[in-house]
Amino acid sequence: MSDHVMPTYKRLPLKFAKGVGSWLETESGERYLDFGSGVAVNTLGHAHPKLTAALVEQAEKLWHVSNLYRIAGQERLADRLCDASFADRVFFCNSGTEAVEGMLKTIRKYHASAGNTQRYKIITFGGAFHGRTYGALAATGNAAYLDGFGPPLPGFVKIDALDLDAVAAAIDDETAGILIEPVQGEGGARSVGPAFLHGLRALADQHGLLLAFDEVQCGIGRTGALFAHQLFNVEPDVMAIAKGLGGGFPIGAFLATEAAAAGMVAGSHGSTFGGNPLAAAVANAVLDEVLSPDFLDGVHQKSAFLRQGLARLCETFPNVVDGVRGEGLLIGLHCVVTNTDFVDALRTQKLLTVAAGDNTVRLLPPLNVKQSEMETALRAVELACTAAV
Ligand code: PLP
Repeated sequence: MSDHVMPTYKRLPLKFAKGVGSWLETESGERYLDFGSGVAVNTLGHAHPKLTAALVEQAEKLWHVSNLYRIAGQERLADRLCDASFADRVFFCNSGTEAVEGMLKTIRKYHASAGNTQRYKIITFGGAFHGRTYGALAATGNAAYLDGFGPPLPGFVKIDALDLDAVAAAIDDETAGILIEPVQGEGGARSVGPAFLHGLRALADQHGLLLAFDEVQCGIGRTGALFAHQLFNVEPDVMAIAKGLGGGFPIGAFLATEAAAAGMVAGSHGSTFGGNPLAAAVANAVLDEVLSPDFLDGVHQKSAFLRQGLARLCETFPNVVDGVRGEGLLIGLHCVVTNTDFVDALRTQKLLTVAAGDNTVRLLPPLNVKQSEMETALRAVELACTAAV
């Protein structure tokens, strides 16, 4: 491994040379079934021909112009995201943490532009993950990630449990908004569920707060709805997305209603690369597939098949794995053994997965994963369970 790459990741000694569909291949030709999807990024697997074609076609025309000019693909993408959601306005950036930052700024600016500059606090939740920049880190509130980086950005109030009374008690004259992942990803594929989200919506309405959803991981079809909150029939005022939007090409965005975006005017925010022609072309091609008829139904069907198979394995190997959670193809397998050991055991069976909080292993296959690949994955989980007993 090169000593010149900053050692901020615990990397595995695996070097992939190519990827096709749900499969990755190392330089030495070993094949792995990729149920990690670059942590919920490769929505349509690797080297999807339509995404490659969109990228190449755009690359031959125009790679980049700044946001000083109109960008046709970006406008089309914004229109499509708004048509398919609660939102009226979209700002494009390059990653999840940037999308969260922009959303936090939008919340504070909304109140400031209405003359309520004292309203700046955001209520957040235990087990959440929102990213690694200063605002997102403060919102995440994970002490291990904050250690050594000086005082965290002020203005975040963390509620540990999903407790509506605790949220209500935390609201004061300085509260600006509530930020939550409708389905926690890093926290262990935990679905918040409709009752709590509806409760938050009611509290936000009652107190004039903005409700913000972080759908960086659970958005773009991952849960079987285009956006996870659509499963629960509750709408936010602002939302961050990234990961799956570009299917592997870096792009993020935050979306807002017209009212919530009221403070975001020329000069309020900016990004050199955000929503450039290449990124917008690929994201539009991702939407072509995810919004095509039956695609999201297919995600639900695949999810049901995998969950049933995993639930059976939980019954057969209760000392290894003991619960299946999550939504759609953001699946969490709760472990009795140590989750990171189980991820290693699955990798020995040539199945790639991702560890998550609460001793969980995440299975995040491409949304177009094939039936035969799901069967192969279940067989690999079974073999890993057998080896772990
Ligand atoms: N928000 C959520 C819910 C995430 O899962 C992540 C990344 O895992 C982020 C924000 C940060 O995204 P990025 O790593 O693209 O900055």
